[in-house]
Amino acid sequence: MKILNESMGEDSSVKYLIEFEDGNTIETLYMFDKDNMLTYHSTVCVSSQVGCAIGCRFCATGKQGFVRNLSITEITDQVSICNTFCANHGIIPIDAVVFAGMGEPLLNYENVKKAILKINYCFGIRDFEVATAGIVPGIYSMIRDFKDTDIHIRLNISLHAPSDNKRKTLIPLTDKYGINEMMAAAVDYAKAFKTKARIRYMLVKGINDTDRDIAEIVNLLGNKPVKLVISLYNENNIQGLAVPDYNDLLVFRSKIGNNMDCEIFHNFGSGIHAGCGQLRQAKERMYTIQVSREK
Ligand code: SF4
Repeated sequence: MKILNESMGEDSSVKYLIEFEDGNTIETLYMFDKDNMLTYHSTVCVSSQVGCAIGCRFCATGKQGFVRNLSITEITDQVSICNTFCANHGIIPIDAVVFAGMGEPLLNYENVKKAILKINYCFGIRDFEVATAGIVPGIYSMIRDFKDTDIHIRLNISLHAPSDNKRKTLIPLTDKYGINEMMAAAVDYAKAFKTKARIRYMLVKGINDTDRDIAEIVNLLGNKPVKLVISLYNENNIQGLAVPDYNDLLVFRSKIGNNMDCEIFHNFGSGIHAGCGQLRQAKERMYTIQVSREK
């Protein structure tokens, strides 16, 4: 594999564009949490697939379509690259690996599982997070395979809308696994690992940020072992999707109040196209511009 691009953000994040021997490219994001905003402080966000079949409306990777799964080595090498960066810059070694880069990790479950075991063995890392659009069978596979280990895998589910009808306009997978089935799996996961599942909710202006949405969220999640993690939509230049003001996010948080466990998520690396698939897309745009100039 070859590093095509290394971009540093003002918030100490580093984004890599990596090319494999077959010419496919993926992205890896390293986050050094110098301000202690995250639970873990030296974290790598890895990709698990080239492209993605889920096709979330807001996602740059989803627009690219599915190409192939990454191998175990292609996943673990992303951790090695970031660990080398840490060593070279006197930063603490990686203490957590998050599967929230390109692809749906639970649709490449066998390789993701083996990569987690290999990373644990080779780097001694015990803290992981798997972000999913809601692949219910994959959630139960993680319970089965990791329940009796000392590896901690935080489950991170993208909700982004409190009703099936609204959610399927953002995440088409909702037609296959509805919110109730997905939340039942999240609760089973939380109980199996005696923890809370994280429920991601990204605010898109005028679409999922109304008072009614807040009431439905509290009704859906309020009595469950989950933590709601809210953030702003990461601008992807997609027609019909706009980013609310940061103040709107604060108001949304305040309206949720003490009705449930809720925190605001910092979008690392927004200045370096750190949203999933954005750097690859930007690079392709740059390449297209370059090629058309050369013609
Ligand atoms: S958000 Fe995740 S699951 Fe959805 S299309 Fe993008 S990579 Fe796939």
